[in-house]
Amino acid sequence: MNDEDYAVFQEMFVTDGWQQLKEDLENMALVYNDVQTTNSLESLYERRGKLEIIAMLLNLEETTELNRNLEGSNLEWWQMIIVDFCCEQDHVFESFVPRETQELDCPQCGAVAKRIVSSPRFILDGCSGDFPTAADQWVKRREEKIALERKVAE
Ligand SMILES: [Zn+2]
Repeated sequence: MNDEDYAVFQEMFVTDGWQQLKEDLENMALVYNDVQTTNSLESLYERRGKLEIIAMLLNLEETTELNRNLEGSNLEWWQMIIVDFCCEQDHVFESFVPRETQELDCPQCGAVAKRIVSSPRFILDGCSGDFPTAADQWVKRREEKIALERKVAE
């Protein structure tokens, strides 16, 4: 992108429409993030996909700005994303990483930290409220339930 392209983005970011869109997206994210209302694995994955898109849009201002600083490097802005990571000890940190990055070493304790879906302006209630972990728990509970039913059937 050249300076003119960036100017187009900057103009968009200050419009009421963009601010309204961000508000709507944040509200949508809160609804999708509520796994309590999820009743199937399919809808869970669908929500995860939607949340990733929402997070990308909410991060657009930062990624656009950071991309200006990346000019000349091999990485393109759309390959990078600002995401939060959370380790087993609940250390949360933010990092600007290639889109597909799912894990990083925690800078505080060195343990493996997993990616959580959120953005700087879009605060979910800490580690316990993060989507992937909640999703994993849901899957685990479901597997346990299936295993239990199998046991009972034997
Ligand atoms: Zn840690």
